[in-house]
Amino acid sequence: MAQLSPLLKQATPVVVERGEGVYLHDTTGRRNLDFTAGIGVTSTGHCHPRVVAAAREQIGKLIHGQYTTVMHKPLLDLTERLGEVLPPGLDSLFFANSGSEGIEAALRLARQATGRPNVVVFQGGFHGRTVAAATMTTSGTRFSAGFSPLMGGVHVAPFPNAYRYGWDVETATEFALRELDYLFATVTAPNETAAFFIEPVLGEGGYVPANTAFFAGLRERADRHGILLVIDEVQTGFGRTGKFWGHDHFDVRPDVVVIAKGLASGFPLSGIAASTELMSKAWPGSQGGTYGGNAVSCAAAAETLSVIKDEGLVENAAARGEQLLAGARLVADKTPRIGDVRGLGLLVGSEFTTEDGQPDNATAQAAQKAAAERGLLLLTCGAHMNVVRMIPPLIVTAEQVDEALEIWADAV
Ligand code: PLP
Repeated sequence: MAQLSPLLKQATPVVVERGEGVYLHDTTGRRNLDFTAGIGVTSTGHCHPRVVAAAREQIGKLIHGQYTTVMHKPLLDLTERLGEVLPPGLDSLFFANSGSEGIEAALRLARQATGRPNVVVFQGGFHGRTVAAATMTTSGTRFSAGFSPLMGGVHVAPFPNAYRYGWDVETATEFALRELDYLFATVTAPNETAAFFIEPVLGEGGYVPANTAFFAGLRERADRHGILLVIDEVQTGFGRTGKFWGHDHFDVRPDVVVIAKGLASGFPLSGIAASTELMSKAWPGSQGGTYGGNAVSCAAAAETLSVIKDEGLVENAAARGEQLLAGARLVADKTPRIGDVRGLGLLVGSEFTTEDGQPDNATAQAAQKAAAERGLLLLTCGAHMNVVRMIPPLIVTAEQVDEALEIWADAV
């Protein structure tokens, strides 16, 4: 008899039978409020009827049409649809399956296009678990422990995490940019740097938003030194933050965006977008994969984009996000163990700290467990797993946010 690997440690004991909107129905017959959305994936809710219908229809026509062998219509249709929402100038798309693969595709493109070996990533960033993506990940040592040596050429610069520095945002930003210049002056030359890789909001790193001045500083250095600015929108894209792209909050022009998660409502699909000029500098044959741009995933993604637009999900994420953030702050006001509550749109994190301000993983996990016992599914994040995060589907209603906050207050 086979059993699941002990490596698979679930955050909750829930065994799901059926998903419907914001709810996961488990095998005990309980309806759980899902404020994890499959780690920020099911933005249109579980099994949105329109996404289900589009996927069903596609399955009957074509499941797999390997894109380096033949082109298929769902991929062409999706490319056209994404053209309506991509940042200006990014008119060329390449597809893969997971966020990590998207990051690796962007890394290959950046190195090939610039002929430079190095990249700069930011402290607390998470970019995935494949070897290159894990090398670029600093949101916890657990993501690469035990399988070093990893890839070379990755340099780490500070992220303006004002709360953890104990400074205001301005001071933290000035410091982080100075440290970046210091890195360039003393460790790695900017003209050996292919790209910056950055998330608009640190995701796994604890739900810490970047800011406009920081992005302006990165853009200026990127332009000055011929470095590409790769924005990892895997967790923040497709309306999650209350604007279509996370970086829309920060008035910055990316050279490459990496997309996944909210793109296809749960079907595996990721991609990179860049200008045609940049994309054509990738070496033929270096990008691709057997399953990339799967036909059913593409059909589901095209319908996901329509649902996001027709149901006003970006606007809903902004409004419900404000409600959730305000409510989570009220809960924090009543407990000294929550040191900071922050977020953007429907990405909201509550950071648990000990009395002397150190990361408090035990209390965070106890609160998460208590919430799960009360029918509210949540996840933790942060290097020490001491930030409890709320990422409900973007279809969440005001009543469901209130219900979740009530459970959260009780659990805390
Ligand atoms: N980048 C970011 C910002 C992510 O949050 C994640 C996953 O959580 C990834 C990349 C990796 O994506 P995947 O798990 O699909 O490989």
